[in-house]
Amino acid sequence: MCEQTKSKILIVGGGIGGMKSSLTLAKLGFDVILVEKEKELGGLLNSLYSFYQDGISPEQLLNIMKKEISESEKITVYKNAYVKKIMGEIGDFSVSIRQNDELLELKSDGIILAVGFNKIFPDEFFDIRKKNNTITLLELEKLLIKKSFPNISPKTNKRPIALFINGLIGGNSISISSALKNSIILKEKFGYRVFIASSQMKVDSPDLEQLYGKSRSKGVVFFRLGEQLPIIKQENDDTEVFIEDYQLGDGTIIKIPCDLLIIEEKYKPAMVKSMFDFNLEIKTDILGFYQQDNVHLVPVETNRKGILAVGGCRMVNTINGVINDAKSAAAIIVSMLKEKRIHEDYIEVNPERCALCLTCQRYCPHGAITYDRVPIFSPTGCQICGICAMECPNNALKILKREKESVI
Ligand code: SF4
Ligand code: SF4
Repeated sequence: MCEQTKSKILIVGGGIGGMKSSLTLAKLGFDVILVEKEKELGGLLNSLYSFYQDGISPEQLLNIMKKEISESEKITVYKNAYVKKIMGEIGDFSVSIRQNDELLELKSDGIILAVGFNKIFPDEFFDIRKKNNTITLLELEKLLIKKSFPNISPKTNKRPIALFINGLIGGNSISISSALKNSIILKEKFGYRVFIASSQMKVDSPDLEQLYGKSRSKGVVFFRLGEQLPIIKQENDDTEVFIEDYQLGDGTIIKIPCDLLIIEEKYKPAMVKSMFDFNLEIKTDILGFYQQDNVHLVPVETNRKGILAVGGCRMVNTINGVINDAKSAAAIIVSMLKEKRIHEDYIEVNPERCALCLTCQRYCPHGAITYDRVPIFSPTGCQICGICAMECPNNALKILKREKESVI
């Protein structure tokens, strides 16, 4: 299993994606530098009450992974730290890491970004205020960890009512699985009457399909939202929601007085600028995720060879999806390093024609061109796409043949 290499990989972000990538690469014999901005590893796992599959809890999984990381001689962890600078190319990255007041300069052969996403309250949908009884899915998880729920409604002296509003923001599998699993927990453990109002209750795997069936069979009531969004009225400590069920189709408005109103949050990728104070030159999609809409590369690859992105910074995904990303990124980085191409004469510059206009550098989609009086083409970063030669206004570039050589 353990193939000894001298290669070192930088992993940025110590959540589930970063930890899984580190452990996978360490098992393959790579040295790993794991950088986490918080004082503890774990990211989102620290705030989750349960997974939607039966079995291990988030806390147990986190403890197992932390133990494996602390026992691995291959993984060096920097907590309370962030990456200040990344320069270079696959097989030869120079990295600056700031930890407290110390600046560390390191080398790495490849990089995996696992910086996750941020969750924000979706206040553009409703004119509402955050209150004790109006919370997000993640806040519900935190309350469940504390187990602080009344099992009787203080207003009606009857079973309390919880309403999830879900599926307004793209119907992603994280918020759907979270609403489904927590609807069952609120009902079974805390005696709530539970409703889920959703515009997109789409499930994309057999286990989520089962969870949906289980939620229904436990008596959770589902509303299908149409174009008409629910109207939420908050007065003092009372919250009432008025819903038109699209499927009834008769315009009937249903009033639900909520003891707990849970709204799915919006996800924003952890921005490069908040984590790094330099430009990584990695392309993002329209929402800022690393190349979620890239159709030319495998999902975890970025436009910069040797820099991969896993988990929440690439797309909103379940824990299983993040773990699959991490395994895939580890496998890809190994094969990239094995196939690293080295050859000097692959782009020829005609110095008499070159006007040093920087056009080729601006157009290179892989960040493979630097300048030192003349354009310099990275022998490993270049993907031989030919765009620089096409865009050069003076026809100063010519693409030549390349050969391959392994570096591990
Ligand atoms: S685009 Fe052409 S002219 Fe401009 S710097 Fe590049 S090689 Fe030189
Ligand atoms: S061929 Fe030119 S534009 Fe394309 S990756 Fe190489 S240097 Fe960049």
